[in-house]
Formats: sequence, structure tokens, C-alpha cells
Amino acid sequence: MAILADTRPTEAPRRPRATKPVLGEQRDVGRQSLVYLFLIVPMLALAAAVPFAWTTGLLSWTDVGLAVGFYLLTLHGVTVGFHRLFTHGSFKPNRPVKVTLAILGSMAVQGPIITWVADHRRHHAFSDKEGDPHSPWLFGTSAWALTRGFWHAHMGWTFGRNTTNAERFAPDMLKDRDLVMVNKLFWLWTILTFLLPAVLGGLITMSWAGALTAFFWASLVRVSALHHATWSTNSVCHMIGERPFKSRDKAANFWPLAIVSGGESWHNSHHADQSCARHGVKRGQIDTSARIIWLMEKAGWVTNVKWPTPERLARLAND
Ligand SMILES: [Zn+2]
Ligand SMILES: [Zn+2]
Repeated sequence: MAILADTRPTEAPRRPRATKPVLGEQRDVGRQSLVYLFLIVPMLALAAAVPFAWTTGLLSWTDVGLAVGFYLLTLHGVTVGFHRLFTHGSFKPNRPVKVTLAILGSMAVQGPIITWVADHRRHHAFSDKEGDPHSPWLFGTSAWALTRGFWHAHMGWTFGRNTTNAERFAPDMLKDRDLVMVNKLFWLWTILTFLLPAVLGGLITMSWAGALTAFFWASLVRVSALHHATWSTNSVCHMIGERPFKSRDKAANFWPLAIVSGGESWHNSHHADQSCARHGVKRGQIDTSARIIWLMEKAGWVTNVKWPTPERLARLAND
């Protein structure tokens, strides 16, 4: 009997999945003006803060308390929420924790949550190479190139009109209805973050003057101070510091920024082990964000926390 030819269709050669483009739409002029407004006005207040306090004496304990309180809330909204949870999935939250962290992070006025996460994932995908949205090493290593690189990594990149394609870098976020809603309402969180301190300052002191000074210190100065703390992780912590762990880039641990950055300045450890919930992995390395995650785990609000283990740290260590 003749051997029948195998007539089954041969499997079509598998085409490589089309990768989505790195960049999304450019920001239009309206949005771009808002970026300038919400970065520059608070920064002018930050620059004027010391002379303002010195000459007018208008800084009360209420202002200090509100500024520190809102700083800590929005800082950890970014570090625990935007960064460790939403970008890197270091733990699993319950729904109220997820939404609260998304809102608090939005109140840091560093862009809507999905934009932030997409940018940061792109940073890790291309860290310190072409395609990284904010590397200080893109222009070369001469003194001038590094000065330019520092400016670009610190805040220059935020003025660029290109955006990161969220469909490529944050498809999981686009599928989460809660997060899409928080993202859409970014305008509301921005209004609240500037208005709430003023309202509280006015109510606590029962005066318009109290509302105004709280607006200056706990809204404007606080927002800009946190902008610079966060941006320093992108600029300073990719230039100066120690590199005890293996990472593909120039991320470094810079201890002086540990407190103001909520533990994010242990940036070499973070790049070496991106989804780890604790960045200050060594004894004595202050990491308030990890402490908050630990407390939420104890309370049963979050699970599946990716804590570092001695074996893993030993494997990642530079000899
Ligand atoms: Zn980095
Ligand atoms: Zn990261």
C-alpha cells in the first residue's frame, strides 16, 4: 500500500508578536502648559521659602505639621503605591488599600498613575541606555555632558512632550477599572492636594491668614519638595553612591536621601531586585516604605509580600 502523503496543513511559521511602540502620543499644548504650571509655581514657592520665613516670620507649627503630614502621606503614596505596588507588584493589596494608595500617589502631582507607572517601567526596561526616559548618562561622560545629564534626569525630562506608550508598558493597569478611574480623575486629586491643606489651616487657626500660610507651606512648598526628593532618585541615585549589588546600570545607594525619599534612595538594591518590597535591605538602612508594607501585612490588608531572603541577597551581591 502506498504511503499516503501527509496532507495535514503544516503549522504556519509563528510570527514574532508585534511589539507595540515605546512612545505614545505627544502631549498637546494645553497639557504641556499644565505641566509647566504645576512644576514651576510650587518650585518658585520652594525657592522663596527660606527668605519668606526669614523676613515675614509667617511659619507656624500648624503649617509645619500640615506640610510634614501631607508630605509623608503623598510620599508613601508614590513609594509604596505607584512604585513598589503598581510598577513592580511587590505585594497584593485589598481593594481599599489599592485605591487609597493610588489616590495618595496621585496627590503628589507627578502625573496620572498610569503615565507614572509606564514611564517607570520604561526606565527599568532601558535603564541608563537609549530609551530610558530619565538617565543622566545619555549625553556622555564629560563634565558638561554629565551636568546636562543631571538636569535632564532630575527634571528636564518632565518637560519633554513625548509620552510612554501605556499599552506597551502598563496594559495591566489599563484593564483595572479602579485604576483607570483614579487616572481619569487626576485633575480632582491635584485640586484636593492644593486645597485641603489650606482648608485645614484655615479651620485649625480659624483665620484666612492661617489658610494662606498653610497653602504656601503645606501645598506649594510641600509639593515641590517632594518633586525634588523623587527626582533625586532618578538623578543623584544614578550617579553617586555605593553599588553593593549587581545591576545592569549605574543605580547607586545614596544614604543621605534615605529619610526624605521614604527608603527609595537604596536604589542600587532596588535595580538589582526590582520587585523586592524592601529597598533598604541591610541592617540599619532606613526604609519607611518597607515598614508601612510590613504594618499593612500584619494588619492583614496586604498579602504575598516579596521580602528579601539571605540566600537571594547573597546571590545578588557584588563580590
Ligand atoms: Zn532607577
Ligand atoms: Zn523601580
